Amino acid sequence: MYDAAEPLTVRAEAVVDLAAIRHNVAALRSRVESAQLMTVVKADAYGHGMVPVARAAREAGADWIGAAVLDEALSLRAAGDTGPIFCWLTTPGEPVGEAIAAGIDLSAAAPWEIAELAGSVTDRPARVHLKIDTGLSRGGAVAEEWPALLRAAQREEKAGRIEIAGIWSHLANSDEPKSPVNEAQVAAFVSAIEVAASLGVEPPLKHLANSGGTLALPETHFDLVRPGIATYGLSPFGHALPSAELGLRPAMTLRARLAMVKRVPAGTGVSYGLTWTAPRPSTLGLVPLGYGDGLPRHASNSAPVQVAGQRRGIVGRICMDQCVVNLEDDPAKAGDAVVLFGSGANGEPTADDWADAAGTINYEIVTRLGARVPRRYVDTAEATG
Ligand SMILES: *Cc1c(COP(=O)(O)O)cnc(C)c1O
Repeated sequence: MYDAAEPLTVRAEAVVDLAAIRHNVAALRSRVESAQLMTVVKADAYGHGMVPVARAAREAGADWIGAAVLDEALSLRAAGDTGPIFCWLTTPGEPVGEAIAAGIDLSAAAPWEIAELAGSVTDRPARVHLKIDTGLSRGGAVAEEWPALLRAAQREEKAGRIEIAGIWSHLANSDEPKSPVNEAQVAAFVSAIEVAASLGVEPPLKHLANSGGTLALPETHFDLVRPGIATYGLSPFGHALPSAELGLRPAMTLRARLAMVKRVPAGTGVSYGLTWTAPRPSTLGLVPLGYGDGLPRHASNSAPVQVAGQRRGIVGRICMDQCVVNLEDDPAKAGDAVVLFGSGANGEPTADDWADAAGTINYEIVTRLGARVPRRYVDTAEATG
């Protein structure tokens, strides 16, 4: 596990432990019996850095890499990833031909998408996964339009322009494994697979599960699972089932150096709006990170941090570039390290603690971390031999 107390020489950094990524991918693999594993690296791998994470995931046995948008999938190919890649979110007129030529599997949920893919083919057929909406009401064909989608895809398959590689859908409530919605979605998915089979469409890959499904709902595994958040060591179930209980290791630690430390008298107001006032003489530390770096402003006056092993709190509003921590009577000085969140193994706050403080989910805390925060990759497996 990465030691967040390691000395720090830069303003701020997000340390990403690639050994934790590999551990989590292997842990997810061990959760599924025969299904293949797709590691989802959309949104710069939930803020962790897409290319290094994809590489670590492949090393740990990920069969597939999942990306939301074309740019992500094409960047993975450009970075030298030659394995199976699935990309599921395109809009009319995007250069899908480039993705087809690069051997990237794409999704289609309407006959016009099939036509676009077929029309963009050059040297090889487009590999497509047909998407059925089983209840999330986001992408995917509704049941009434499913047969028309199947027939359109089948026609193009016969013409050699398309290869139907999969049927897929996405879960709405897998963060609540006991929700009856999960069962209903599995039933709707099975029925879509049956309708397809009755028309002679029987592709090898049926897939439905995200992290919640992979970890808690074996009936959602089918031929392939698509975990995202669990790859990063964060629980899709929040505090109800924390990552340690799932055998996952949070991969990211966000740290900074105090830019200034000062003693103020009782009654001193702090940060824009002076929304916090020191109740007694206090030591304040200036943290050189703010919402411009992706800290949620909603966590003003409530987010926890750790300084010299002590749990302390952000006081006053989180600004664009800075925020203030109440160090109480700690003997801190400028340059000291402050841990905003990490694995929690050494008592530091976690992304879940920040999510609670901001009224959001751990996904958003890590994913919103901005480009201004440098990512540094460590490999604790190498460090410890
Ligand atoms: C984001 C996403 C996933 C991964 O979801 P997690 O909850 O992070 O595991 C899987 N499939 C699709 C289609 C997604 O958009």
